[in-house]
Amino acid sequence: MSNVTSPEFFEAREVPLGGVRGVKVDRVLPQRELPTLGAWCFLDQFGPGIAEMIVLPHPHIGLQTVTWPLAGEIRHRDSVGSDVVLRPGQLNLMTSGRGVAHSEVSLTGGVHALQLWVALPADATQIDPGFEHHAQLPNFRSEGIDALVFMGALGDVESHATTYTPLVGAQIDVTEGTIPLRPDFEYGVLVIDGSVRVADVELKPGPLLYLGTGRDEITLAGPARVVLLGGLPFPDDLVMWWNFVGRSHDEILAAREQWENQDTTRFGTVAGHGSDRIPAPVLPNLRLKPRKQPSRQQ
Ligand code: MN
Repeated sequence: MSNVTSPEFFEAREVPLGGVRGVKVDRVLPQRELPTLGAWCFLDQFGPGIAEMIVLPHPHIGLQTVTWPLAGEIRHRDSVGSDVVLRPGQLNLMTSGRGVAHSEVSLTGGVHALQLWVALPADATQIDPGFEHHAQLPNFRSEGIDALVFMGALGDVESHATTYTPLVGAQIDVTEGTIPLRPDFEYGVLVIDGSVRVADVELKPGPLLYLGTGRDEITLAGPARVVLLGGLPFPDDLVMWWNFVGRSHDEILAAREQWENQDTTRFGTVAGHGSDRIPAPVLPNLRLKPRKQPSRQQ
């Protein structure tokens, strides 16, 4: 356990999502000093207790969307023809490849969900778009620990969800117990419910606790439900704007124009919404720059 990074808190910030209902979300990632956590590049927490969520068709490039509901039911439709109801304990994973569009609408009140994005590595940004619904996910269990592994691997328990870089996403119900980690991964923990003592600090719902790299295990003392995210530190500086993840201003500009021009060859069509869609915002009057990966102590 030498060369372990000191834990660091990253506070979530409240972000108004446009739209009719003016839903507010807590944005946990990205942060100025933490643009990515492994390949995880975006984390919004919706709710708890959102009465109605209507996210009309909108596009994505350069990423996978990972939708992880904690309460309530969400209907997902997309431009590869999916129409799926998602419930807690299940995973929706949509891979944009070169371009995809989707909508998400709540079917119940009381929605509480995590919306995460995973940045695709450069060699996967032009693949075909795809969608996976995982109704059954593998359990990692050890003394005091009962986890659902939704992406990647925790110990030797691995999700079937398709990943393009080594990473993990797991929901962990803990009384008190120890989980295996990979020293080459960086990790972060978000508390959903309860509170947990981890790495000599007390963590409650709200901030992300960044644990860095260099650990081969960690002990959690709850009781709590937490989400563990981790992965190999992502090598690329990313340009993130609206729903797009890219590597250059021009790449983002092209995607924006194609969405605004209703270019169905790139983004397809999400059935069932007529002409309703979310228009792209106006680009700022400057060239978008990549968020620089900070150099961290290893
Ligand atoms: Mn989306």
